[in-house]
Amino acid sequence: MKTAFTASRLFTPAEEIANPLLIVEDGRISEISTHSSKELPANTSLLDFGNGILAPGFLDIHMHGGAGLDVMRASTSELPRLGNFLTTHGVTAYFATTVAAPLDATCTALSRLADAIESTADVTNGDTPQARPIGIHLEGPFLSHKRRGVHPPENLVEPTVAIFDRLWQAARGHVRMLTIAPEIPGAMEVIAEAARRQVCVSIGHSDAEMPTAKDAVRAGARHATHTFNAMRPLDHREPGIIGEVLSDDRITADIIVDGIHVAPEVVKVFLQAKGRERAVLITDAISATGMPEGRYQLGPIEVDVKDGKCTANGSLAGSVLTMDRAVRNVTKFSDWSLRDAVRAATLNPAQAVGLAAHHGVLKPGADADFTVLTSAGEVVKTIVRGRGF
Ligand SMILES: [Zn+2]
Repeated sequence: MKTAFTASRLFTPAEEIANPLLIVEDGRISEISTHSSKELPANTSLLDFGNGILAPGFLDIHMHGGAGLDVMRASTSELPRLGNFLTTHGVTAYFATTVAAPLDATCTALSRLADAIESTADVTNGDTPQARPIGIHLEGPFLSHKRRGVHPPENLVEPTVAIFDRLWQAARGHVRMLTIAPEIPGAMEVIAEAARRQVCVSIGHSDAEMPTAKDAVRAGARHATHTFNAMRPLDHREPGIIGEVLSDDRITADIIVDGIHVAPEVVKVFLQAKGRERAVLITDAISATGMPEGRYQLGPIEVDVKDGKCTANGSLAGSVLTMDRAVRNVTKFSDWSLRDAVRAATLNPAQAVGLAAHHGVLKPGADADFTVLTSAGEVVKTIVRGRGF
């Protein structure tokens, strides 16, 4: 059974196609053409989204939870509810992101997340679309004490390959991303080992000076975590880690565009520095996302949410940002088009983590994970593996 989808435009997102015809077979995209150039193949039903835009589903590589659920604490049976919530904001895949917690508790969470990743790899349960966890992002425990943000100091650990391997084994190899402060003793060895295992090594929660950040890139780091937040600040004579992140084209970098974590003008500077191919949007969203204000958990941390701001002991503690709003904010804070902003939430993160063969892009052979947007970037519908309409 084939299903064809049409709308007014399609973002691949590197290109824009007018009057698109996107054909889905067995959960994958089998063909993309234009409506005018092609008759509908036999045995194909057509879904017309009118003035909508077909865009790849958003890939959030830094996400701690939402809809009241925390990825380190939720049971495997609860995660589909989070996945369904995420689709209402255009997300079709995410990296379940940990925070620094006691190692035993972290390992328990990692093996549960590995179960979730493996159980959603092949099936879509029922007709309710659910964003799928497709990897794990270890945000900690190898973070700088000075730039730890709200990660509990007692849970920070000096990096060793042995500890990294213990986490890796608990996650059964599903660790796809590691945020690490390169200046702490032992970090360079772990960076090299993680890179060797195809992990996207991201520098962050770091007080590194620029030469150390450069050494990290030489050791295998190729990304930066929530640029500006939990980093030694940029100074024009002492550029530090941010100087390296903004100036080095070998690395991609992500940013939280909620208008709270980074001022809009600095978001614009970031977008200009990293450009349309290397800027990545993340939410850093916590369980409170999509919920009323109040007190919520972020792993072992209690977080208060008020006026759209998440804090623990006065420090920012993640966000209640959704990816569709991050995309719209980019178009408000800069001169980037909706397609540019969508690219930063789809193809760019997929390329940064080495998953662009199937994710973050609309092309034959890719997963049929897409979202239908209005021209203002509002989510109309989200399809995961060809299901959910
Ligand atoms: Zn985070």
